[in-house]
Amino acid sequence: MKLAVIGTGYVGLVSGVCFSELGNDVICVDKISSKISMLNGGEVPIYEPGLKQLIAHNKEEGRLSFTTDLTEAVRNSDIVVIAVGTPSMSNGQANLSYIMEAAKEIGQALNGFKIIVTKSTVPVGTNEKIRDIIAEHSMYPFEIASVPEFLREGTAIEDTLHPDRIIIGAATEIVKETLIELHSPLTNNIMITDIRSAEMIKYASNAFLATKISFINEIANICEKVGADVTQVARGMGYDKRIGHSFLKAGIGYGGSCFPKDTQALVQIAGQMDYDFKLLKSVIEVNHDQRFNIIRKLEAILKELSGRTIAVWGLAFKPETDDIRDAPALEIISSLLSKGARVKAYDPIASKNFSNVLQHECLEYCNNVREAAENADALCILTEWNEFREISPDLIQSWLKLPNLIDGRNLYSEEELKGTQLIYYSVGRPNMN
Ligand code: NAD
Repeated sequence: MKLAVIGTGYVGLVSGVCFSELGNDVICVDKISSKISMLNGGEVPIYEPGLKQLIAHNKEEGRLSFTTDLTEAVRNSDIVVIAVGTPSMSNGQANLSYIMEAAKEIGQALNGFKIIVTKSTVPVGTNEKIRDIIAEHSMYPFEIASVPEFLREGTAIEDTLHPDRIIIGAATEIVKETLIELHSPLTNNIMITDIRSAEMIKYASNAFLATKISFINEIANICEKVGADVTQVARGMGYDKRIGHSFLKAGIGYGGSCFPKDTQALVQIAGQMDYDFKLLKSVIEVNHDQRFNIIRKLEAILKELSGRTIAVWGLAFKPETDDIRDAPALEIISSLLSKGARVKAYDPIASKNFSNVLQHECLEYCNNVREAAENADALCILTEWNEFREISPDLIQSWLKLPNLIDGRNLYSEEELKGTQLIYYSVGRPNMN
């Protein structure tokens, strides 16, 4: 099939490349010309394991190309996939301006029948607005569909090529048949829904996962008070098939480009219908507060943070990505700086993106774990990169000025800490704190 994918961010680029891997002809479009130049020059503007090789392979096979020319891409395609961003506005609602702009441009570019598929996460009813805008600008027939994306950054290619399910929100047979054909090489688990339900499935899924995270974080906070170990509690809970093990990892809360904005957006979607989504509001509040446990623990050991040097390992919102959007590290480091601390930060991949949004005379970006930790009064681990796991607590202790380790991701086991003199705080494991 011939596809145009509008937006070459984490979703559009990975989806486009994976569709080409399946043998489709794919043109990826972005309005940021520097991204397209990089992609045409063999570079990848984002970090995602395996992506560079997959792009090179499919370019070589002649199935994948990159352009800033949306009109040309749409005209040469049968299916147009919208994968532009839907960031939060200050009131929490999804900003649909990129979606509406893309819809207008697609409408103006149509030259015959096409199926327009929205992969971006959009509030219920948005696909109908997309249809209206395209219709306003085009005299050609077209159909719309909502195919929400569930990939996770860091494992995006695996998730795209082997998804748990594909949701196709569509109203007509031609769209259902075409999109089943497009997605059937990926999975047999394809669910056809109406368009509004497909839009809602995406928000409901992210809200549920966020709820699991906030739930286990609150259990962790209680574990610390009552002397139970949240890792054992979560394991014991997870063996119940109705609960499952995933997303029951206590830590400093979720971040990233999806959960924070999608939970906020769903509260807004509900609110616009006069429904007060109390549970989700609490999930958001718990998540926001959880990241400040790091500061509270630091203050409990060091008392005054002013004049202290704090090392931070991990800036990305999760490992294996360079994405720092809504990363807990942003607020934690800002809070440390506002309290007068000096921060030495290191991340294997995300430092550049982070330094683009946070610069401060007391914030130093370091080149490796050791440089960050050396002579610090405490080390905080904020992202569970494998690189950090491999460093022994003894080594950490030898680098630090004061032996304080605040492990926001529960990286170390009791066994590994035996014999060290580290003052160790983790999340919800009181026997180790
Ligand atoms: P992103 O910000 O990384 O990428 C969006 C891209 O679209 C940008 O490169 C931007 O320049 C481009 N763009 C915007 N308007 C355009 C236009 N008119 N023409 C051409 N290009 C245009 O966003 P993302 O993280 O890939 O997310 C895209 C959507 O997918 C969002 O709705 C998001 O909620 C959803 N989603 C994201 C993830 C994820 O893990 N990032 C997972 C599932 C769903």
